[in-house]
Amino acid sequence: MNTVIQIKEFSYLIRVNKSKIVDTWLENQLVKDIFLAHQLVLNEEQKKVFYDIFESIIGSMKWELSISDSSINGRFLKILSTSSFSTNDFFTLFMSLKNSLILFFNLEGLLSFKLLKDIENNFLEITKELFIIYEQMNDLESIPKDDNTNLLNEYKKAVDLSTIVSKTNPKGIITYVNDKFCEISGYSREELIGKPHNIVRHPSMPSHTFQDLWTTIKSKKTWNGLITNLRKDGRSYTVNSTMVPILDIDGDIVEFIAIRNDVTDFEQAKEQLSNLNKAMKHKVDELYSMAQTLEQQASIDVLTGVFNRSKFEEFFEFEMQKSRMQRTKLSIILLDIDDFKNINDNFGHDIGDEILKSITKLISLNIRATDTLSRWGGEEFVILLPGTHLEQAKIVANNIRKRINEYEFGLTPKKTTCSFGVATSNDADTKESLFKRVDTVLYKAKNSGKNIVIGEDEI
Ligand code: GH3
Ligand code: MG
Ligand code: MG
Repeated sequence: MNTVIQIKEFSYLIRVNKSKIVDTWLENQLVKDIFLAHQLVLNEEQKKVFYDIFESIIGSMKWELSISDSSINGRFLKILSTSSFSTNDFFTLFMSLKNSLILFFNLEGLLSFKLLKDIENNFLEITKELFIIYEQMNDLESIPKDDNTNLLNEYKKAVDLSTIVSKTNPKGIITYVNDKFCEISGYSREELIGKPHNIVRHPSMPSHTFQDLWTTIKSKKTWNGLITNLRKDGRSYTVNSTMVPILDIDGDIVEFIAIRNDVTDFEQAKEQLSNLNKAMKHKVDELYSMAQTLEQQASIDVLTGVFNRSKFEEFFEFEMQKSRMQRTKLSIILLDIDDFKNINDNFGHDIGDEILKSITKLISLNIRATDTLSRWGGEEFVILLPGTHLEQAKIVANNIRKRINEYEFGLTPKKTTCSFGVATSNDADTKESLFKRVDTVLYKAKNSGKNIVIGEDEI
């Protein structure tokens, strides 16, 4: 082959022989010593990066692109930066790379003198440029390497002592567990390494939690949540878990690290508290309904189910005040069953009770929702009609009277009647004065032959 003088031809030859040149370079004793001193043992993957960088350097030699434009350089320098090469080491490595390159071609006597000089000059420039990038990269990690390692070890110790840590490969196979993990799960390290992580999965855990977890970490994001796990002895424990995907320099997931804190006691306390709350709520409901029953008992007449006299007094007071404030009329109907004593005497007390209940129903069905019916006592009932004039109240009373008069009880006696007094509040009225008037009117009705409605305007 003729002497190579064209850079284009030279580039081609380098591309074809790049692995051979790099391998020769790596065999150089100087290079070997430097790598050894930095305990940098190149694996196949890293060697490939070295081949690529070589090609990229040649690309720069063609003056076609700047060395800093090449993304391969980042990967290449990263490998070197993990071992923190000194300036001397760095230049030695690159100069010997250049020597390997020249040697490779010169053995064949292929390089022209001009090309040789070009390579010498350019390689120096490129090395300087690379070194600047390399220094910038290392500056980003401003803490000196040794201190950094110590610091990391300290962190690791602190994390291992305080939290439960495990690592898995991308397929979920356990590759590392710390002591705390073994302690809480009840498994030995040997039992865990190499096993799928679901060895500690609790059957009560919903599968959607794990689907969410995997989707999140596989998309290279961190997942956090509560997980209940199963111990070897069958007991369970709950951990607040954070899963972190670890990426390589190409951005591919290489492993997952899980950091967890035992929150079993906390979760149990939470559950106990929630049960206690439920029990208390139940008790409060019970007490509330008891209180309601008691209040009802205090305000409802047992036989007829309508309000009793004491509740009537409350309503009466309230409705009197309301009518005064709203300047509306409050009417009151007092009614008494006619000759009820005779019913008791002739047909028995139980029949009397039945008639009392039936009459209550009849009255209730014939008043408005805003009117209130109370049992005043014995066989006397009182109806409060808010916002009602005397004439309207008399109509209501007459309607009730008629209904009772017509009604057949389905027992003996078949029928009975009631007498009614009706009165309406005026501005000067008190509870007492109004009630006194209606009582008087009822008395008048009784004296007028019974089964009658009399209004206060009629006496
Ligand atoms: P008047 O037409 O004048 O009202 O005559 P009366 O017999 O209805 O009047 P009186 O007040 O003399 O009688 C009321 C009777 O009502 C007396 C009492 O035994 C009876 N009574 C009161 N409360 C009850 C009750 O809860 N059940 C029964 N069965 N009777 C009762
Ligand atoms: Mg009576
Ligand atoms: Mg009476």
